Amino acid sequence: MVVGVLVELSNKNIDKIFDYSVPLLLTDKIKLGIRVLVPFGKQTLEGFIVEIKAETQVDTKSIINIIDEEHILSKELLTLGKIMQEKTLSTLISCYQTMLPKALKAKKGTKINKKYDTYYKLGSITGKINDKQEEIINLFKEKKLVEKKEIINISSSSLKTLVNRGVLIPELKEHYRLEYENRKLEQSELTIEQKRVVAEINDTSDQVYLLHGVTGSGKTEVYMELISKVLKEGKTAIVLVPEISLTPQMIQRFTKKFGQNIAAIHSALSEGEKYDEWRRIYRKEANIVIGARSALFSPIENLGIIIIDEEHSDTYKQDDSNPRYDAKEMAIERSKLNPGCKVVLGSATPSLESFARSQKHIYHLVSLPNRINQMPLPEIKIIDMNNEIKTSKGHFSNELLKKIGEKIGLNEQIILLLNRRGYSSFVSCKNCGYVAKCPFCDITLTYHLSTNNLRCHYCGYATKKIEECPNCQENSITTIGVGTEKIEEELKKYIKEARVVRMDFDTTSRKGAHKKIITAFKEKKYDILLGTQIVAKGLDFEDVTLVGVINADTSLNIPDFRSSETTFSLLSQVAGRSGRSKKRGEVIIQTYNPNHYAIEYVKKHDYIGFYQKEMLIRKELKYSPYYFLTYIRVSGKDSDICYQEALKIRKSLEKYLTETIILGPSSNSIFKINNIYRYGIILKYKKQDNLYYALNKMIEAYKSNRKVVVDLNFNPRHFI
Ligand code: ADP
Ligand code: ZN
Repeated sequence: MVVGVLVELSNKNIDKIFDYSVPLLLTDKIKLGIRVLVPFGKQTLEGFIVEIKAETQVDTKSIINIIDEEHILSKELLTLGKIMQEKTLSTLISCYQTMLPKALKAKKGTKINKKYDTYYKLGSITGKINDKQEEIINLFKEKKLVEKKEIINISSSSLKTLVNRGVLIPELKEHYRLEYENRKLEQSELTIEQKRVVAEINDTSDQVYLLHGVTGSGKTEVYMELISKVLKEGKTAIVLVPEISLTPQMIQRFTKKFGQNIAAIHSALSEGEKYDEWRRIYRKEANIVIGARSALFSPIENLGIIIIDEEHSDTYKQDDSNPRYDAKEMAIERSKLNPGCKVVLGSATPSLESFARSQKHIYHLVSLPNRINQMPLPEIKIIDMNNEIKTSKGHFSNELLKKIGEKIGLNEQIILLLNRRGYSSFVSCKNCGYVAKCPFCDITLTYHLSTNNLRCHYCGYATKKIEECPNCQENSITTIGVGTEKIEEELKKYIKEARVVRMDFDTTSRKGAHKKIITAFKEKKYDILLGTQIVAKGLDFEDVTLVGVINADTSLNIPDFRSSETTFSLLSQVAGRSGRSKKRGEVIIQTYNPNHYAIEYVKKHDYIGFYQKEMLIRKELKYSPYYFLTYIRVSGKDSDICYQEALKIRKSLEKYLTETIILGPSSNSIFKINNIYRYGIILKYKKQDNLYYALNKMIEAYKSNRKVVVDLNFNPRHFI
């Protein structure tokens, strides 16, 4: 027997499948998708079995041993990895590595241990039984296995005696590090609208559905209903949510309904806990997986549905390392490998790409246009900060401060968003709100401190940093950026009685901190929840009747063609936290750009209006979804060499890609990291025949180049 083994060659961007023969002793144990140890030169490496061939060969080296008894990559996942490889042009091994929890990656390294708990079962009852012993035996009336802890609570000496006499027999059970509450399933009656949506999805046979439902329309309930049906058919489900909205609240809602059936995978888990969850899924002890992007590759079988909540979120695209895959695209591919499996994308503010596809009937559109219980959407007031300069207190307009005070008086709660995207990276006029943009790309120019100039990261245009505003001629250009701590300080100064809790990266990095803050706020130990983007998503508090946005503009000014879309969706999402239950909600948005269309459409709760307007702009400027974009990054120690190689790449691509607009090379938004310089080339195309051929050739040509590294990112969300 000969097997093809995919090995990881450290530090090399190379995929190699090598043939190894199998010693007779091991032939029974060989399966696709298990890891094996193989000799490789002088080293011993780990690799995956990806092919099994019947023939015998004498001149091949033989494998040393197997690592896994059972496959860790199923046939389905082996296939999915190949598809990912074709779509991203990354190495196959990197695709498989991405799919596995760290504890299982084929690499040298420490293995994470399993933990065991001791349980006892009843043997035969012989001899005299005293009171304590009887109490212990009575524990077995209700269950077959009783945990050691519970018995010791009664008497540890009696336990010893009973074990010695064979009355109790010990049994080790694997201990999973996470515990789920095993509460009764909760049944909630769906509204007529929710039922209509569920029926439309269940009674049609399309592959991809887009659920456009306003904030508070009860999308989560719809997901759970769809999942219930799938489980009844004996199938399984995956629910993807952005990391940021994997809140304890969200997980609680699912556990309440499905109990022990769910496995949750998120970054707050330790590697050991992630591995435990992976094994629970693998052993079919969980049939619903809920998690961030990589949960899509869980070893779950017989998938009936994949749900992607907040589908507009940029976290579904892996932009920062290879393979730069798109989880939405891969979800659709995975569903194709499971007959009848549907994909449901849900959002209050769908990405332009997804909504455009629904308009072309590639995705089946279903809508929930109203909130639960006919609650109206909150009233949104826009405050023009240009008029507040002289009277504002710190970053607060008088109106926002007054409203906060009022709500605290009514014993209602407030969420405040500090929009921190694009922190300090651009300059703006304090007087008129002017922001410098690239004359060629309509993209905000990024301020580079090291060179004191403003640059366009798309086309490379650069200009001196200005001091005087070209719009109003005032000397009031400043860099933008303020932190949550500063805002908290201001709040305490202006509203002394306010009880404020901060939720941002700093306060939630400790384990369990997130849950603590949410619980305390829910229990009304605080009046105000202040935070960054983290407060915008997935939270559901019934007493929140005011949402305030300190600075709507920062996300408008990030140097990205999606900045209006990002702003529209962030503001709509955070506004959606207000007035979700019985009391009508209000929203106050502070901005220097009150007439910007993204903000005007947020005020009107008009997604469709925003979509139509934004589509016109994308068409004119040749951006997605009218054009596909691909980013080629060239990085290396020597800035000149990088730039020269990038130029060469551009020249050679020009020959093949005759229908493509090629921009750059220009410096990456992070021009230099750890002394590595980065340049980028952007490709824009509607349709390009030789695209994969040409790009593959480029990747191949640079694989063993020692001076520069070339990375490829199809349809990036961030050009990094
Ligand atoms: P979305 O995800 O669309 O923002 P949610 O699913 O969070 O909305 O629902 C908003 C609120 O309405 C939640 O508190 C939820 O428990 C409640 N809810 C949803 N569906 C129903 C229903 N059919 N009956 C009563 N309450 C519901
Ligand atoms: Zn430009």
